[in-house]
Amino acid sequence: MSALSLLAKARDRGIELVADGGRLRYRAPWGVLTPDLRAALAARKGELLAVLGGERQQFHQQGDCRSPWPESLPGRGPRRIDCYARCEICGRGTWVRYGGTARCLGCALAARGDSRGHQALASEG
Ligand SMILES: [Zn+2]
Repeated sequence: MSALSLLAKARDRGIELVADGGRLRYRAPWGVLTPDLRAALAARKGELLAVLGGERQQFHQQGDCRSPWPESLPGRGPRRIDCYARCEICGRGTWVRYGGTARCLGCALAARGDSRGHQALASEG
């Protein structure tokens, strides 16, 4: 089993894997992390750490250096900031307009075909 599919399998079961320096840390619901799975994870530790490290880097690049807002929406136009209004699709508050149409981040991402959409917003609280 590759490191990636092992990681997917672990997450599927609710196991959280965290790269902590050179160590692989687990947080798992009781009884989920079987000896077999633990051994498989340990055997792939180096690869898993590399994968987890890469994910974190990607997250920081997206979060810190780039606005998550699309610069423009197809058929709508470029982004601009205006007075606070309700998103015309879902009713969330937003300052952003695309071609004069109020859009929240979730609807803007959805319009770009980005599946993060409202799910991402929901998980951020
Ligand atoms: Zn919306």
